[in-house]
Amino acid sequence: MRAEIIAVGSELLLGQITNTNAKFMSAQLADIGVDVHYQTVVGDNPERLEEAIRIAEGRADLIIFSGGLGPTKDDLTKETIARHVGVELESNKQALQSIEAYFERTGRPMTENNKKQALVLKDSAVLENRFGMAPGMAITANEKTYILLPGPPHEMEPMFRDEAIPYLQRLSGSQEVIVSTVVKFFGIGEAELEYKVQDLLEAQTNPTIAPLASKDAVTLRITAKAETAEAAHRLIGPVLSELHNQVGEFIYGTDDDTLSSKAASLLIGAGLTISAAESLTAGLFTASLAEEPGISASLKGGMTVYDVQAKTKQLGVDSQLIETYGTVSAECAEALAEKIRDKFQTDIGIGLTGTAGPDIHDGQPAGTVWIGLSFKEKTESYKLRLSGSRNTNRLRAANFALYYLIRELESEMS
Ligand code: ATP
Ligand code: MG
Repeated sequence: MRAEIIAVGSELLLGQITNTNAKFMSAQLADIGVDVHYQTVVGDNPERLEEAIRIAEGRADLIIFSGGLGPTKDDLTKETIARHVGVELESNKQALQSIEAYFERTGRPMTENNKKQALVLKDSAVLENRFGMAPGMAITANEKTYILLPGPPHEMEPMFRDEAIPYLQRLSGSQEVIVSTVVKFFGIGEAELEYKVQDLLEAQTNPTIAPLASKDAVTLRITAKAETAEAAHRLIGPVLSELHNQVGEFIYGTDDDTLSSKAASLLIGAGLTISAAESLTAGLFTASLAEEPGISASLKGGMTVYDVQAKTKQLGVDSQLIETYGTVSAECAEALAEKIRDKFQTDIGIGLTGTAGPDIHDGQPAGTVWIGLSFKEKTESYKLRLSGSRNTNRLRAANFALYYLIRELESEMS
């Protein structure tokens, strides 16, 4: 199916508004495999609109209009299409009722010209407008399909998604279902990820894999089309496994997972308890675990051990160790993890120490962080070199601790 979008409105031509409706519609149509060959913009002028329709009919099977369905004199879209296609306008009972209900709901007086909005193309499918008055319409005539939608995006977008797309899917007789899964990454940049899975991204057609733009997360979206949701999920499975093969160490979850929700569900699922001794993060790690419901089964507590005295006197870290290696060291992070684990009698102990910045501390440049993780017979530590502002570094450090915890628990399970 070849489609053309015609956005009607002189404001668009005058540069007063941006044609976001065409952008939205194009993206939605691409998702269901409809090719949009042209986007047209025309003013509120019946002759020029009719000319645009004639041109579109010569090169598209599906023509979608946005705008000009309102009650005012300059709203001429449906009148022009009615005349051009040769169908009458008739008052639609359902549309009239919903307009009357709208006025009742908003307490505004209804005027005579509002009744004009209940006029729809004869024999068209009426598309319900839940957020405004003007109903949309879909009609197939002379082997062309015309879809008419109102201009305001908050009215048009839900109508497009909930009414126009299903109409088109019924029309094409396809029972196609689209399912997508978002895969979430940590500890790898967007560019590096794309580079590493380049071959996979390029080779895929169904499912497709695409980076999903997001401000503070690195993600890939896998989208599959199939006859049923189950079949679509079956297509996604192998692609997910292949991603795990190639870049699995950076994957921490899918869809609604966050680092803390993932870590919490692994801990609770495995029946393991945890405690943390935090220096530079001063409680951020335990606070983010505490966001998760049910975590009290696993999170026993923690200590903020900000200065040396707190680390030695309160927690019991050997002061000789700190004198030898400094607080920003693998040795200190590991000691924090072991001591807190011992003190709280938990299965896992986490230690966080480092320099949040902006200044050098203990001879270590800002952003140097050590994370200790004590579990079973071993205690390990990880070094980070962060480059953000003070508080970005503190948050990143807590997130990295969650990430290493997730990796540890996952390798434990496999
Ligand atoms: P109304 O009942 O509000 O008059 P309408 O269907 O007649 O709706 P228009 O009068 O063409 O639509 O446009 C109404 C408003 O919708 C515009 O002022 C603008 O804010 C927004 N709008 C219209 N067309 C677009 C578009 N293509 N992209 C983004 N916004 C649009
Ligand atoms: Mg209008």
